Parts: sequence; structure tokens; C-alpha cells
Amino acid sequence: MSPTVSARPVEGQAKAARSTPRHVVVAGGGIGGLAAGLALARGGWRVTVLEQAAMFGEVGAGVQISPNGTRCLEALGVMERLEGALFEPQSIELRLGHSGRRMFSLPLREKAMERWGGRYVHIHRADLAEGLKDALEAIAPDALTYGKTVTEYRQEGARAIVILDDGEELTCDLLVGADGVHSRLRGQMLGGDPATFTGMVAWRTTVPVDRFTSLPPPTACIWTGHGRHAVTTRIRGGSVVNFVGIVEEDGWEAEGWNQTGERADALAAFDGFAAPVREVLEQCDSLNRWALLGRPPLPRWSDGQVVLVGDAAHPMLPSLAQGAVQAIEDAVALGEALEGVEDVPAALNAFYKCRIARVTRVQKESAKNAKMFHHGNPLMEALVYGPMALATAFAPGFVRARNDWLFGGGPL
Ligand SMILES: Cc1cc2nc3c(=O)[nH]c(=O)nc-3n(C[C@H](O)[C@H](O)[C@H](O)COP(=O)(O)OP(=O)(O)OC[C@H]3O[C@@H](n4cnc5c(N)ncnc54)[C@H](O)[C@@H]3O)c2cc1C
Repeated sequence: MSPTVSARPVEGQAKAARSTPRHVVVAGGGIGGLAAGLALARGGWRVTVLEQAAMFGEVGAGVQISPNGTRCLEALGVMERLEGALFEPQSIELRLGHSGRRMFSLPLREKAMERWGGRYVHIHRADLAEGLKDALEAIAPDALTYGKTVTEYRQEGARAIVILDDGEELTCDLLVGADGVHSRLRGQMLGGDPATFTGMVAWRTTVPVDRFTSLPPPTACIWTGHGRHAVTTRIRGGSVVNFVGIVEEDGWEAEGWNQTGERADALAAFDGFAAPVREVLEQCDSLNRWALLGRPPLPRWSDGQVVLVGDAAHPMLPSLAQGAVQAIEDAVALGEALEGVEDVPAALNAFYKCRIARVTRVQKESAKNAKMFHHGNPLMEALVYGPMALATAFAPGFVRARNDWLFGGGPL
């Protein structure tokens, strides 16, 4: 396993346990916000998580959580709550989208634990959020409030004042901005441009397995194509196929960054793809279409008592399946950085320093993967996937070792 970087305070900085717990407000109750709230609640903080939505939606379908994420979820006491909802794929495989021909398959199920000390799992986002919420509420029953929108903050000495859209103000020792890719708190903290369209659109849907005649394999399966690729996984104990299709497009004309998509458009986007991919699109009840956004690495993630985590700090393409995982890593690293430390701004700087190089590398590798899966012409396919197929067949240990920095790294 590769060495991990930790923001744990050096000896001498830690102080004795406090009689009055410090108060953290978390803006955003997505995966990043719930995980941050949980990590801090476990560290003795009084936690308030404010989520603008009326409830956590089903939108977004499945996510893959690699061992660097499941080790964190284990440490946060969440894994045991997810058991029935998980699916552990046999392998990661890559197939040519049009022929369905398998180029390589890397066994994963047993190997993940053996090599990286954590499981590789698939789960519905709503199930993961539910597990995080349950774990948080087991420690702090009233921590989460829906229907509350944070608009801005101001600082008064070592306190942050959180301002809500209904005029309410909350005072706290720490404000965590987990408000996603369109983060208002990032806008206030760092100004500048909103996140930009990456030129890629994601289609997402789920279909029960019993609707298929050509079922996609029970793996993390990448289907490559020209200017597009798809990924099929299983969720909810294997009973449901999860689909993500990434397509290069010139622009994003629609209002809003995610919207309901038309089946005919999805079928046109994956025209000529193998039967299991097309069946997903034919059999699903509905489709969502998302604009994929990005931004260059930020020069800092904090301002006094305020810090950003997850997509608010570092949005990335989903082609390495790491956005939610990195948000979970942020949560654990933030908890470590603040453990027993009085000087919150200094701890937030330490948190940034221990995270920025890793997260920037993950952002870059995600973009590289998207490009690689989009070659689509036979010569490039042979040149790119041929050596990968040989390496996976004859030196699978070497291929796994190339992922040590990612799956074996992070705060734990
Ligand atoms: C197609 C696709 C596939 C993906 N697949 C994977 C995968 O396999 N594995 C993986 O690890 N990641 C994956 N991701 C990435 C992952 O979904 C995100 O990185 C992750 O959800 C980020 O979590 P977050 O909590 O930072 O932000 P979000 O999930 O965006 O949550 C932000 C929350 O804050 C709330 N909010 C926003 N503004 C305010 C406000 N002002 N006040 C209060 N609340 C507010 C929002 O309503 C939302 O609930 C994928 C993404 C896409 C698009």
C-alpha cells in the first residue's frame, strides 16, 4: 500500500477535551456534507447540517466507491449500515462499445481487500446518503435540517456567522461549505468564474435486472466508443443495473445543469452500441441528463473559520469514479486536521496542504480517462487497449500496483 498523507495535528498542538463542544455548521447535506458532519460529530463537535432540498432525492443513481473510500466509511462506522444495499463487482472490465468485445478484465472482489485493505463496492447514492445520515443521527439526532438554504457568511473574530435565505443567522466555530459544484460559499470566498462546462454530458438511469434479455455483466464495465463511453454497474444487492453514459457535446443550451432526457436522444447517442447497453436505454423508465462541470485547482479552500469540501472545492469528471470518494476522504482528513486543535484557521490550512496534491492528481487522471475511453477508431483501440489487455492477462499484479497511489492512498 502506498504511504498516506495525514493532517493529524503534531504532538503538542492537541489540547485537553473541552467542556463545551465547538459548533460546526455544514452547508449542504449531500455525500460530502453528511460525511463531514459525521466525521466532526465523532470528533466531539456539535453539528448542524443545513440542506436546501426538502429531502435527499433519488436523482443521481449509483456510485462506485473504491477501497480508499470504503476504508473511510468503515472508520466512520457507516459500512455496516450499507450491507444490504451494496454490490461488490467481480472485476473491472473494458469492452469495445460497438462489438461488446472484452479487451481486459481485472479481478477485483477478493483482491481489493487483500491489496488495498478495503472493499470495492457499488451503491445507489440515496442508499449511501441514508447510511451516512443514520450514522450521523445516531450520534447527533437533530443534526440534519432539510429546506434550509445558506446564502453567505461573515466572520467575527474566531466565529463564523452563517446567513440563511430566510434571514436567520447562526453563529458557529466552523462553517463547512459542502454545497456542491455551484457552491455559493466558494463564490463568496474566492470570487471568479462559476464552474465551466467540460464539453461532456452524462446520461444516467437504472433498470431492474429482470427486464433484460442481454444483461450487462456483474462487473464495473466500461464500454468504449468514439467521443462517448458508457459504464454499467450493479446496485441494490445486484438487483438493479446502473448506467452512466458520457457523451462529448458542443454546448449546453438547456436551463439548469441536470434535466430529464428523452429516450430517443439517448438511443441516438449510443447508436450501434452492443445489446446490453441499448437494452438499458430501451427498458428504463426515465433518464437524466447532466452537464459535467469542472474548474482548475483552487489556490485555497478556506477563509478564517470557513472551509470548502467535496465538489465545492474540487469538481471532477466522473471517469475515475472518485468525486464522492474524494468528498468522503475530505471529511475524514478534515476531522483529523481539527482533532484537539484550538487554532481552526491553521488546521484548515493544514487540511488543504495535505489534500491538494492528491485531489489535483485525481482531477487530472479523471480527465485523462475520459479521453482514453473516447478513441473509438480501430487503430487507436489496438494501440491503446492492446497493451492494457496484455498487461492485465500476464501481469495483473503490475496493473493493480499502478492503482496503489489511488486505492491505497488518502487519509487512512
Ligand atoms: C454521471 C456521474 C457519475 C458519478 N459517478 C461517481 C462514482 O461512481 N463514484 C464517485 O465517487 N463519484 C461519482 N460521481 C461524483 C459524485 O456524484 C460527486 O462528486 C458527489 O456527489 C459530490 O458530493 P458533494 O456533497 O460535494 O456535492 P453534491 O452531491 O452536489 O451535494 C451538495 C448538496 O448541497 C446542497 N446545497 C447546495 N447549495 C446549498 C446551499 N446554498 N445551502 C444548503 N444546501 C445547499 C445541494 O442540494 C446538495 O444536496 C459521479 C458524478 C456524475 C455526474
